[in-house]
Amino acid sequence: MDGSSQVIALEKDDDHSMDVLIVPDSEGKDDDLCLCNRCGEVHGVQDIEVCRRVRREQSRCSRCRLVHRDYDLTAWIIDGFDKFDCELYIPNVNELQMDGETIILPDHVQKRVHELSPNMQELKEQEANKTDT
Ligand SMILES: [Zn+2]
Ligand SMILES: [Zn+2]
Repeated sequence: MDGSSQVIALEKDDDHSMDVLIVPDSEGKDDDLCLCNRCGEVHGVQDIEVCRRVRREQSRCSRCRLVHRDYDLTAWIIDGFDKFDCELYIPNVNELQMDGETIILPDHVQKRVHELSPNMQELKEQEANKTDT
């Protein structure tokens, strides 16, 4: 590797506080029950963690086995794509290289991503406008 390879970093999944709403303990139950924002059911606190994990697993892409939304923001920040598109970023899933949870893009993929990237299109347009005048 020549060190210039672009990497897509995983967004930290630190939205715990958004997942649960504490339901007032009006029934005087021992269990801490929470309303789960993911499925709308009331779970015990431990079940919420299980639910989180199950739903996360369910949202995994059947093609690349990644949770796309983990990478949506990075794809948007770096290249201007609304969504992480694994067919673009990972044209061949068998060649997928990961560093932890970071996707390593080979040069040819990087090139193609840049060609299609909305950010790059905008730059090109600006360049074209410059040379026109
Ligand atoms: Zn749930
Ligand atoms: Zn995918």
